[in-house]
Order: sequence, then structure tokens, then C-alpha cells
Amino acid sequence: MAGNLERLKQRIPLLEYLQRHNWKPCRAGSRQELVGLCPLHQETHPSFYVNAAKNLFYCHGCGRGGDLIRFVELNLNLSFRESVAHLERQLAAAPLAELLTQAAAFYRGQLHRYPEAMRYLESRGLRDAALIEELGIGYAPGGNLRHHLAALGHSLDLLLGAGLINHQGRDAFCRRVIFPLRQRNQIVNLYGRSIGAAFPHRLLPRSKGDLFAWEAVSRFSTIILAEGLFDLAVLWQAGFRNTTCAIGTHVTPAQLDQLCDQPGRAVYIVFDQDENQAGQQASRLLAQRLARAGLAVRIAQLPMGQDPNSYFLAGATAADFTGCLQQARPL
Ligand SMILES: [Zn+2]
Repeated sequence: MAGNLERLKQRIPLLEYLQRHNWKPCRAGSRQELVGLCPLHQETHPSFYVNAAKNLFYCHGCGRGGDLIRFVELNLNLSFRESVAHLERQLAAAPLAELLTQAAAFYRGQLHRYPEAMRYLESRGLRDAALIEELGIGYAPGGNLRHHLAALGHSLDLLLGAGLINHQGRDAFCRRVIFPLRQRNQIVNLYGRSIGAAFPHRLLPRSKGDLFAWEAVSRFSTIILAEGLFDLAVLWQAGFRNTTCAIGTHVTPAQLDQLCDQPGRAVYIVFDQDENQAGQQASRLLAQRLARAGLAVRIAQLPMGQDPNSYFLAGATAADFTGCLQQARPL
């Protein structure tokens, strides 16, 4: 038991765990220590010390300290046994996170080798190279991911379990632009947009994770919720960095909690304006759900038949879009 716990703590270093959960050291203290704001109590002056070599923390503000397991107990309010189980589950998920990270990196590397991929991005109005990089956009030509990941030592079972290959052993993503989806800074899924005749949208068969780019967007008190990632991309490109996306019109309960993590937050829903009213109806249902959760919701109207992506492609400017937001009706 004691040996197992030691191994667990070695495989998940405390500092790495804290940083994955958004703890940012603000300076180095004495004796190989890092100091930052305490995640366990409210404070403005950093008093949370982490010794990476000893794998221990101590907070001079709230007087609490210990190892990784103690931190999880305090932070998640779990018992010792539950904390160990929680960390073991994280460890079990680690090979998958690593696999998806390597798949996403491989696809990123393919993007500039296939002119059809760059042409597709351009046809969707996405031209800002820095933004393409920032969003982690890649391209799956099909037929080469399996060999790459197998060469890195991943078993075919793992690839199959992740949904990256199908039962015939072929790459699941073929001729698709790839966006990595994250949860707590780890890649947990990949979204592939077909650039050919195949069904446009494809996700791996697992959770779609956080609201897209939530690490960057959560600081805003007013949020634009778009339906698709190309909507988000053109909105970011036009300066609306407070845009996030749930990949489709369905917001998961965990994503709803994220929207609610700032009291009184304002959310503008900007879904597709479909001729058949599907987008509008989805907007209304979601708006009611968000309002019940205490958010200040408005539904923004674009011209009929448009989504943010096509709206900007048709020549709309940031000022035009701001006009749509200003005219958005409260619920
Ligand atoms: Zn503290």
C-alpha cells in the first residue's frame, strides 16, 4: 500500500498537477520553492509554497500543507481513499491524453503540407496564421496517423479504443480539418470538419470536454456562444475573443456549470439562422435553460440563412456584428 502510494505520487508530480489545474507560481521562494496564490483559500498576497523536489506544499495563509493526496482531499473535499481513487483514475486516463496530444501534434504538422487544407481554411475566411496556430488547427489527410502513432509505441488497441482508427485499421479522420478539444488544459477529443463529401462533423466517441478554449474565455463577463468552430474562428479573428462554442447546439451540464462560474454573466447566443428554424428553436430552448441557471441571456439575430462564419465571409465587419449584438433581444 505505502509503495503504491509513493509510486502514485511519483507518477503525478504535485507541481505538474497544480499547474494542470491552473495554479501559476508568481515567484521563486527560497530553497527550490515556488510561491503563488493559495488554491485552498481566498487571498491576494501569495502564501502558497510548493517544493517540487520534496513534492510537498504548505500555505502560510491557511496553515495547511502536505502531499498531493492531501491537496486533493482539501481541494475536492474528498476522503483519503476517494482522493487516491480520483488520482488513480487520472493516471488511467493519462495514456489516452498523451495519445490525443500526439495525434493533434501530428495533424498540426500535416496542415501546411496539404494545399487543399489551407485552401479550405481560406474558403472559410480563416487567414490569420497566428490564430490557426493558437487554435491548434491541423489536417488529417487520412492513411498516415496509424503508422505515426504505432511508431511512437502506441498499441493498435489503444488507437482503436480512442476511436482514432476503425476496426479495419484505417484512420478514422480522413480529409478533415482537425481542432483539438480540451478539458482542464488536456486534449480530450478531436473535432474533424470534412473538406470533402463526407458528413461534415465528426468527433471521437467520447466527451467533447470543456466549452471550447474555456481557459482563455472564462475571464470574460460577457460571452458569445457560437454553434461551430469556424464561427468561433472568424469571430476571434474579428476581435471577439470572448467567443466560445459547445460544438453544436447542445450544451452539456458540465459546460453549463462553466458558463455559470461567474455570477450574472451575460451570454449572447449566436446560432445559425436556418430557413427551417432549427437553429432558432435550439437557441430559444438553450436560452431558457441558461436563464433558469441565472445567466443574462440574449439571442442575437443574423440575416436569414447566415451563421457568423458565412456572415463575415459575405463581407460583414466587426461593427456589423456588434450591431447584431446590440439589437439582440433579452429573453
Ligand atoms: Zn491557503
